[in-house]
Amino acid sequence: MPELFKTVETFFTLQMPYCENLELRRTVFRFGEGPRVAVTSGIHGDELEGLYVCHLLAAWLEQLHATSPASLRGTVELYPALNTLGIDTLTRSLPVFDTDLNRNFPGSPDGAIPHRIAHAIMGSLAGADLVIDIHASNIFLREIPQVRINQECADKLVPLARMMNLDLIWLHSAVTVLESTIAHSLNSNGVPCLVVEMGVGMRITPEYCEQLVTGILAVWQELGIIAPEVRLTPQLHHPLVADDSNVHYLNAQTSGLFVPSASHWTDVHKGELLGTIVSPHHGGILSQLRSPVDGILFTLREYPIVYEGSLVARIMAVKQRRI
Ligand SMILES: [Zn+2]
Repeated sequence: MPELFKTVETFFTLQMPYCENLELRRTVFRFGEGPRVAVTSGIHGDELEGLYVCHLLAAWLEQLHATSPASLRGTVELYPALNTLGIDTLTRSLPVFDTDLNRNFPGSPDGAIPHRIAHAIMGSLAGADLVIDIHASNIFLREIPQVRINQECADKLVPLARMMNLDLIWLHSAVTVLESTIAHSLNSNGVPCLVVEMGVGMRITPEYCEQLVTGILAVWQELGIIAPEVRLTPQLHHPLVADDSNVHYLNAQTSGLFVPSASHWTDVHKGELLGTIVSPHHGGILSQLRSPVDGILFTLREYPIVYEGSLVARIMAVKQRRI
């Protein structure tokens, strides 16, 4: 019998009212003694980029294990879909309970169902050496590949984030950090967790997924999962660093149909036209959005319908802070 190095495990089961079962599953790769790392995704059921990243990571591990099993150590856990009901029904929140699963952490073992799910996830990830939680924005906004870090955890997480082959590290001040998320709960419990945001909801962006996989493998090699002699794809991306002081938010001044005129992830100049908001009922322009600064357009509206006040773009003023 060949050694069973990969198993799909159910770590939480909930009987549904009629006859189905809700099952949370993880794929576990066991390579013997060594560190333990995890990748989570799909906590929002409309975010699919992380599912493809899990596939790519599984394919990479299976191939290396087939050709050079001694090059791998420790344990890798992949959690492609934490909100299984949401993924199956194309729903961002937790269906039926109509709550954002990522606002129910750390949960409790005998509370409401969303709290029980969160508690089970926390239990499954307890003791991990690193968790990477992958998000894909939402259906409204497109994001460049980035890591978001609570400033309180910066000393521990920024060095790891720098190895992730991503384009941006965004440091959030403690007052803007949501305490009921999986990342905050894990970091508070001593389990380092990096939050990746990239792409757009309900889509996959293969080049972003491949870029992130290159970074995750580099971090795993640094932690000792992958032997030093294994040659990895070179990293081509080096992150800019943003914080609350150099990120500018652009919101729609009128409701209507947003038509971009600038491209996502490009340099923009102060006063440059980024897009217009128009009406389908007449030929006039309702409002224009212009960049308030010289900078980089790192978030751009993907979904054209906007309400007054809808977020349309984020621009990082060009001021690369060294940390
Ligand atoms: Zn998300």
